Amino acid sequence: MKIAVAGTGYVGLVTGVCLASKGHEVTCVDVDENKVKIMKNGDSPIYEPGLSELMKEHKNNLVFTTDYEEAYREAEVIFIGVGTPEKQDGSANLSYVFEVAKQIAQTVQRDCVVVIKSTVPIGTNDKIESYIRDKQKNKDVCIYVASNPEFLSQGTAVKDTLCASRIVIGVEEVFPGEVLKKVYEKFDVPKLIVKRRSAEMIKYASNDFLALKISYINEIANLCEIVGANIEEVTEGMGYDARIGHRFLNAGIGYGGSCFPKDTKALNWLANFNDNEIRTIRAAIEVNENQKFKLIKKTKKYYDDFLFLNVAVLGCTFKPGTDDLREAVSLVNVPLLLEDGANVRIWDPVGMENFKKKYPNKIQYCNSIEEAITDADICLILTEWEEIKNFDLRKYEKLMKKPIVLDGRNCYQLEEVKKTNITYDSIGRYTVNPQ
Ligand code: NAD
Repeated sequence: MKIAVAGTGYVGLVTGVCLASKGHEVTCVDVDENKVKIMKNGDSPIYEPGLSELMKEHKNNLVFTTDYEEAYREAEVIFIGVGTPEKQDGSANLSYVFEVAKQIAQTVQRDCVVVIKSTVPIGTNDKIESYIRDKQKNKDVCIYVASNPEFLSQGTAVKDTLCASRIVIGVEEVFPGEVLKKVYEKFDVPKLIVKRRSAEMIKYASNDFLALKISYINEIANLCEIVGANIEEVTEGMGYDARIGHRFLNAGIGYGGSCFPKDTKALNWLANFNDNEIRTIRAAIEVNENQKFKLIKKTKKYYDDFLFLNVAVLGCTFKPGTDDLREAVSLVNVPLLLEDGANVRIWDPVGMENFKKKYPNKIQYCNSIEEAITDADICLILTEWEEIKNFDLRKYEKLMKKPIVLDGRNCYQLEEVKKTNITYDSIGRYTVNPQ
């Protein structure tokens, strides 16, 4: 089928490339000329495992352009995967989605289905359909709007798309549902056809449930520290219960990224706007805000301030497997260290280029974990990269000025750390070799 995709971020590009891999003719549109240039050269502008390879393999089915008119005019299906960032009041900023809707209305010359993949508040699909039908230039064509929320996770986005847990299709009429079934014909995964508002709600309810699960376990971890229980043992015991499961039970210093923070706030905003309260989500948001400061508060046990201290920061992306820094805890913690006079050295396998754009000076960017921790007075682990998890613990002892490691992601087994002289403070577990 002839498909256009608006937006080539984590969702749009992965969607476009995966659809091309199933034989569709896909044109990916972005307003960012630099991104389009990179993609035209056969490269991916974002780091996502397996994406570049798949792009190259299916390049004959893929076109990248800034020319939306060319892309939308004759498309049978147009996916919208542009951003819906948080506004100051917590609601979702829909201006990018409506901009694409306007472009579609002005351009389309054949019947087509516009598919909203961006995460949008309940009722937005209805508004977009009315908006497009009102503004459409060619009144002879019929434009339908369908909701098709995206559930991929950054870091495993390609796998999550090709082997999705489910494809949710929200429609009000039979035709757009049939078109989407055809689009996803070769995806051997469960497909669920529901009403548009339900599809929109499925997305928010799913993301917010996961955020809630994280905040819940973080609160339990905080209590574990106080009462002397070990959160790892606790979650292992909980996870065997199939009703709970092991996933999303890793205690840490809070969630970040482009989805959980904004999607919890957007649902909370929507509830308030409708004179309703969603107290569990509000609690998840509050807990997460506090949790981001958990590690920096722990540092006070070891130093009164950071003036002239060498602080190694391992990991700056919001999670492993991505170069994305949106709402990463590093963006809260590193400025505090700098304000306090620390010499900050950062190591991250893929996130440093983006971090450098925000902090070009003042920070020493390191090529290896060893370089970052050499002569460090303290080390903070903010992202659980495999390279950090597999790092030889004895090197902290050998290379640091003082081997104090504060681990915000529980990367190491306490039994292993006990074999060293490292002072190791993590989340929801007792401190090894306390000072
Ligand atoms: P992103 O910021 O990475 O990408 C958005 C892209 O849209 C950018 O490249 C931008 O230049 C482009 N764009 C803006 N206006 C445009 C226009 N008029 N025409 C064409 N392109 C335009 O965003 P993302 O992370 O891919 O998220 C997109 C949406 O999907 C959001 O609503 C998000 O909540 C949702 N979502 C994201 C994820 C995720 O893990 N990132 C997962 C599920 C759902």
